[in-house]
Amino acid sequence: MAIKPVLLYPQDEKKLRTRSQKVKKMHTEVQTLMQDLKDTLLTKPGAGLAAPQIGVHKRIVVVRFGQDEGEMQAPLALVNPVILETGPLTKGFDGCLSLPRISTWDTLRPAWLRFRAQDESGKPFEMKVEGIDAALVHHEVDHLDGIFFLDRLSGGAKLYISMTTEEGEKLVLLDNLSSL
Ligand SMILES: [Zn+2]
Repeated sequence: MAIKPVLLYPQDEKKLRTRSQKVKKMHTEVQTLMQDLKDTLLTKPGAGLAAPQIGVHKRIVVVRFGQDEGEMQAPLALVNPVILETGPLTKGFDGCLSLPRISTWDTLRPAWLRFRAQDESGKPFEMKVEGIDAALVHHEVDHLDGIFFLDRLSGGAKLYISMTTEEGEKLVLLDNLSSL
């Protein structure tokens, strides 16, 4: 039986900063890992999850494309993803399941990118994505290299935290970044 995956938070920064290793063979263990990542992502308010976020340093991420269209697709596993080409950097939304409740609109990510990866059966494929989908792939591939979204903030970036108030869930500007 698979162990229930646990999401790592900034207190496990050392593990989140470790570079992940290439997947060489699509063993049963790798299949289980992909399923764990998908299952975990489906229970969280996010569009992507990388293996190091559950403490496994293998180059596998799962992503849910389609946020721009307002409908998130089923999780798709990308094994050994490599970014081949990127468009100009633009500021955009970012958040991370390893840093719950904090989001920004000031992360610098490519407006589009082309990547290569292997699918769940190990078959290589190439894809071009843009907008939020491009930011998502970029964010998840960063995790495989130990890069956190806070590392990609533009100068003068603003961070927001979601808080429960009397009027419900609200985004509040964190004007004192040093208090983080
Ligand atoms: Zn993340």
